[in-house]
Amino acid sequence: MWAPVTKVSIGTELAIVIHGMTATIELDSARRQYSRGTVIFRERDRANCAYVIEKGLIEISTDVEDERRVLATMGPGEMFGEMAALDGTERSATATAVEDTELTLIISDQLRSRVESAEPILKLLLRVILNRFRHEQSLFRHPGNGSYEALTLDPEHDSSRPAIDKIKLESELRSALERRELALHYQPIVNLASTKVEGFEALLRWQHGKLGRIPPQKFIGLAEETALIVPIGRWVLEQACHDLVRFQKHVNSDVSMSINVSARQFSEPAFLGELADVMRRTRIDPNTIKLEITESVLMDYRSAPLRWIEQCKRLGTQIALDDFGTGFSSLSYLASFPIDTLKIDRSFVAAMQKDPRSLKIVRAINQLAHGIGLNVVAEGIEEPGQHKELARMGCELGQGFLFSRAVCFEEAIELL
Ligand code: C2E
Ligand code: CA
Ligand code: CA
Repeated sequence: MWAPVTKVSIGTELAIVIHGMTATIELDSARRQYSRGTVIFRERDRANCAYVIEKGLIEISTDVEDERRVLATMGPGEMFGEMAALDGTERSATATAVEDTELTLIISDQLRSRVESAEPILKLLLRVILNRFRHEQSLFRHPGNGSYEALTLDPEHDSSRPAIDKIKLESELRSALERRELALHYQPIVNLASTKVEGFEALLRWQHGKLGRIPPQKFIGLAEETALIVPIGRWVLEQACHDLVRFQKHVNSDVSMSINVSARQFSEPAFLGELADVMRRTRIDPNTIKLEITESVLMDYRSAPLRWIEQCKRLGTQIALDDFGTGFSSLSYLASFPIDTLKIDRSFVAAMQKDPRSLKIVRAINQLAHGIGLNVVAEGIEEPGQHKELARMGCELGQGFLFSRAVCFEEAIELL
């Protein structure tokens, strides 16, 4: 046992708190020493921290009908008191130092900020486990009374609905390919001077058996997060190339196909081999395939973007930079990467006529792109006025609801 000290100064100030038999020495704000027999906290105390045992031994106990029951004994490296600290409730048991013990304090805010920044599903799991633990504890303390503190989801659980929905959607998406629920729709890309369809952009659609149509905004991000975009993207590549052959046969021309490639597919080593393979099998002219990438791909050092783009170009495909004007829109990308086409994001096209600055920006992007030999596609053209203005400034290509939404293969072929 440590000698009782009232107040000592050795570098850090040490303080001693003595209440009867219990003794605590505060080493610094995060460290505490407890002598044998000290109660660290009592059942029903309000919790504001958890503890990690550095040295010694502690016992967790509870009183059931005036009888003390030991729930656990813990030693160095173990954490205790975290349950109540996390959900800010009362201690459900008493912790006592069995030996002289040294603990590190972890305050509730430290725990909570970690939990708050965790992945939603992890947060949900944690809450479910906490709830279950409390339920079992209440059964232990009040045996035979199963209805006491029933295991129900508290109102806070409503906040976990999005996390549950997301993981359910992920499970559905996993089987969507097998169930043939995915389809490609094609939005024409037109020559703005002649309104002739020069190509299509392949856009993924998901028609779920029970849930109906699920919008791309809801599942593409999820597919990217979970890497499901890799097998899905492989299917997109295959399907788009097969349909391109049929488009090209139909009009006997070199209609192009724009295919969205996400960052996840980019860093997938098999992608280039699969691209080469499908082009060889379908005997497509590689120059009629445009891979659409976003800036995020160029920023991601793991995907080694320059080498990847150069390899695609060696295979003969074209590269388009999608959604230009959103994100950082760094001009250095245009200088550093051999890109063929710039797609001006639809937010600029939408603002063009109401906001003179946006119009100037669209003009400047158009000029800049042409100046360095890139083609320009304006996205999201919805009004004749936008079409006219873009054509007037020499923007050669465009797509948008004014010409057509993305439609199924049979309708798309009619547009040629
Ligand atoms: P994106 O590549 O920017 O595709 C264009 C989006 O703009 C499409 O939305 C299209 O329907 C929409 N759009 C076209 N014209 C107009 C217009 O005039 N007005 C408005 N308001 N919207 C217009 P969609 O089909 O919902 O796709 C959303 C995003 O999902 C795409 O944006 C793309 O990032 C992603 N995506 C779609 N298909 C694929 C795919 O096969 N693979 C990957 N990796 N991503 C895909
Ligand atoms: Ca695109
Ligand atoms: Ca776009």
